[in-house]
Amino acid sequence: MDNVTEKLLQCFGYRKFKSELQERAVRAIARGVHDVYVSMPTGSGKSLCFQLPAMLQDNKVAIVFSPLLALIKDQIDHLTRFKIPAESINSKMTSKDRDRVLNDLHSMKPTTRFLYVTPEQAATGTFKALIEHLVKYKKVSYIVVDEAHCVSEWGHDFRPDYLKLGNLREKFKSIPWVALTATASAEVTKDIMANLKFLQPVAQYKTPSFRRNLYYDVVYQNCIQDEIGDLVDFLKKNLKDDDNVKLKDKSAAIVYCRTREQTEDISSMLTKRGFKASAYHGGLKTSERVSVQEQWSNGECPCVCATVSFGMGVDKATVRVVVHWGLPQNVAAYYQESGRAGRDGKPAFCRIYYCRSERNAVDFLLKSEMGRSKTPEQKQRCKNAYKSFEIMVKYCEEVRCRHKTFADYFGEQAPKCGARCDACADPRAVQRALDQHLRRAMS
Ligand code: ADP
Ligand code: MG
Ligand code: ZN
Repeated sequence: MDNVTEKLLQCFGYRKFKSELQERAVRAIARGVHDVYVSMPTGSGKSLCFQLPAMLQDNKVAIVFSPLLALIKDQIDHLTRFKIPAESINSKMTSKDRDRVLNDLHSMKPTTRFLYVTPEQAATGTFKALIEHLVKYKKVSYIVVDEAHCVSEWGHDFRPDYLKLGNLREKFKSIPWVALTATASAEVTKDIMANLKFLQPVAQYKTPSFRRNLYYDVVYQNCIQDEIGDLVDFLKKNLKDDDNVKLKDKSAAIVYCRTREQTEDISSMLTKRGFKASAYHGGLKTSERVSVQEQWSNGECPCVCATVSFGMGVDKATVRVVVHWGLPQNVAAYYQESGRAGRDGKPAFCRIYYCRSERNAVDFLLKSEMGRSKTPEQKQRCKNAYKSFEIMVKYCEEVRCRHKTFADYFGEQAPKCGARCDACADPRAVQRALDQHLRRAMS
């Protein structure tokens, strides 16, 4: 056992790292030579990547920027449970509390090991004076930017105050910085490095997007006689279970639809054809939504036809099929929604039933929205939305590895797909289907 694994057990009570990636990130941050960028999914233990290295530096404090007081509270409570002194300074605390924290941090041997602040707080005179003092006396172990996608206008949670953190990076060149996020397209990653002014070369630790157990394909609605019949076959074929499987572990499916009406229509058609399905959308009463989700989770109803509001907090491991009825909103959304399949690591199937006329409708909608936008920010947002839409159309209208589209989007090398998508498994058949689809769409 080396110093790092010893501290892991001693401070956090864990015998092992959660993943190899977590361990590598911890060790890189502990070396403290480079700025480090960590991108791993939610729940994979990103916090430990900086918390453990910070605990290896006695009498120093790590400054952590986090976007919300609620997140800050969670983190402080978590560390407090491990008896690690963590504090915050913010506008909500009493002046007595604040003085206590500031006095400790200004003392020769601060006991605080983690100081959590919002980026808004970072702009105040109190904080600026504090950080100057801490740096001057070499009391800062790391400066950490959590939820770093907030610094990017490509992210959905853009926070202008995050941009100012870049100035701090320039000012305090001797301290290693760490940025962490769960959402990271190639664009967002680029923005994070650039806007936070990270010093190159940045060490990057990223979970690859490729999930080998997921098979992706596209079916053109105008090329099949009976779309619902095709969907029923697809569901029946891929949701087979042995007799001895417990109800809650039974195979399940999600069919994502674009409208509320569609969720109702498709679920009732599936049910009529002998495949039990329920509808889920924002127009239902809360009690109805809860009951649909419960019946699906505990295995009573194998299939939900839902708008994209379904899925937050859904962690069913045995989802064998995720279907998108029509075009997903964009690549990021599609990766996330389809990624709810196969969490148990066993084979699962992700399919888009693509429809050209719907594509044209979305195209029209996005363009008219662009026409109506007034401010430069609105225009930029529309442009971004249109670009994302185009990538999704290309995904459906090109014979190209489906997994590679995701890898490109996340700025990774092409994965070794093998035959985990239709375009790699049988490119000629996909080309034939595409040709037929385009001929029919034009005629
Ligand atoms: P993220 O920020 O990536 O969403 P967190 O840092 O909040 O994830 O960690 C998620 C959970 O994983 C926490 O409850 C944390 O205590 C736990 N965890 C982190 N590292 C380990 C580990 N090495 N072994 C066991 N649990 C861990
Ligand atoms: Mg986190
Ligand atoms: Zn492929």
